[in-house]
Amino acid sequence: MSPARARAAAAAGALRSSGGSAAPPQGRGRKRASPRGGAPAAAPAPPPARHLFSDPAEVEALRGNLLAWYDRCKRDLPWRALAATEPDADRRGYAVWVSEIMLQQTQVATVIDYYNRWMQKWPTLQALAQASLEEVNELWAGLGYYSRGKRLQEAARKVVSELAGQMPRTAEDLQKLLLGVGRYTAGAIASISYGQVTGVVDGNVIRVLCRLRCIGADSSSPAVIDRLWDMANVLVDSSRPGDFNQALMELGATVCTPKAPLCRECPVKQHCQAWRRVEKELAFASQQLFGKQPPVPDVEDCGIGDCPLCPPATEPWDSSLGVTNFPRKPAKKPPRAMRTATCVVERRGCHGAPEYLIVQRPSSGLLAGLWEFPTLPLAQDLQEKEREELAHHLQAWMGRPVAAKGLQFIGEVVHIFSHIHQTYVVYSLHLDGDVTLDPALFPSRWVTEDEFHASAVSTAMKKVLKAHEKQHRKESSPVKGSKKKRRAEAQGTGSTCPGAQLSLRAFLRAPTAREGTDLPRVRHQSPSLR
Ligand code: SF4
Ligand SMILES: [Zn+2]
Repeated sequence: MSPARARAAAAAGALRSSGGSAAPPQGRGRKRASPRGGAPAAAPAPPPARHLFSDPAEVEALRGNLLAWYDRCKRDLPWRALAATEPDADRRGYAVWVSEIMLQQTQVATVIDYYNRWMQKWPTLQALAQASLEEVNELWAGLGYYSRGKRLQEAARKVVSELAGQMPRTAEDLQKLLLGVGRYTAGAIASISYGQVTGVVDGNVIRVLCRLRCIGADSSSPAVIDRLWDMANVLVDSSRPGDFNQALMELGATVCTPKAPLCRECPVKQHCQAWRRVEKELAFASQQLFGKQPPVPDVEDCGIGDCPLCPPATEPWDSSLGVTNFPRKPAKKPPRAMRTATCVVERRGCHGAPEYLIVQRPSSGLLAGLWEFPTLPLAQDLQEKEREELAHHLQAWMGRPVAAKGLQFIGEVVHIFSHIHQTYVVYSLHLDGDVTLDPALFPSRWVTEDEFHASAVSTAMKKVLKAHEKQHRKESSPVKGSKKKRRAEAQGTGSTCPGAQLSLRAFLRAPTAREGTDLPRVRHQSPSLR
């Protein structure tokens, strides 16, 4: 048995014989139910010492090093400034809450501008509670995961109407009382805004902790996540819990990055088991290079057979990966493929500028309440008939015939949602004037290009419009007679200026034979706009 194995076995034996458990912080361990009617449940096997922070001196040193680095190197972010300077506790909690919801699944660089605009528009819970969902969606447009904005506003209304405008002050109450606030967000708000001594575990923290303690078991499994929460609660600094949590996340975001961690610059490398292992391997390799016969490095796993936190035996440590051996996740399920036909319905507005028809999505489900071009989900095997299907859909919606051949194929636009690989098959339909739609059927409106971009539309729809414009530019690039044609169009046989409005029936007409010949016969390769 190697010395490491012997040490680990001894440590584990000592823990077992004393009935030791996973050593959660006092008062913060998660209770586990005992089996009904039987003897108390046996304590779960303790994790091997290598995976714990069991040395108080080391924990103290790690906290000090991390906080000193954070004080020196932290990024200047608007929500940090507010959390540090806002004297009103409810405003402070609200400011942190908004930032945490925006930062879920979204990069800091993207969030900053959204955050500043949001806080300028709705600086308090009360202001947000009075906003309409439409306004929230408009500001959120482009940030993705739109239900986050909606839930944030619903929860703000609840704080104002049911909690007298006072934010819950503890992680437990925040999670219990506020819609959309999970364990992580609750811990972040409570520690950063109210100084509650509670840890947090997000994607960055998972990566850092797994590397610090060589945790190679599936980091998305509940058992491992539980261990990581225990660890985060052991580590958090009681005098600066908010700063400590932000420091750990900052380390993951800027130093201990997923693919290219900067271990040599890392303020906690001396506490990092993964880095220690890499260094041992490097030392071994360099000694070999100089013809020495070094002892085989002590780089084995923790020494406990079937350790629940080490990499599985089938996927041992891979020296070529270094510290990025950790964390490990099971392969992601491939996203579900979906196809949607979407139609950019365009007309000439005042002064010849194009206007687009947008309709509102249902108030629940994907992209709830957002505006989009008229769309129709397609079955995977419908590709041959999608033009007909879309025409049929528009026809039912507009209440009069729409000829399939009047729909011009533009291309395909791909957008990846978190779990959906969405392909929009884009068509366009030009109308020669105004159309009166029945808003009782679907909420709909005509918008100019600027209004489109200011509306609550998804990034995917912006890609669709971009594809449409690209195709339009291609078609109207200088060819004989086109200038004349454009001028004639701009002067507007079909202008929708006041006085020129005609009926829907007059505008939804089948294309003339000449127009029909302009339509592409062969579907071209899809321009992926990713
Ligand atoms: S030493 Fe490297 S792997 Fe370890 S915590 Fe620092 S950056 Fe991450
Ligand atoms: Zn182990």
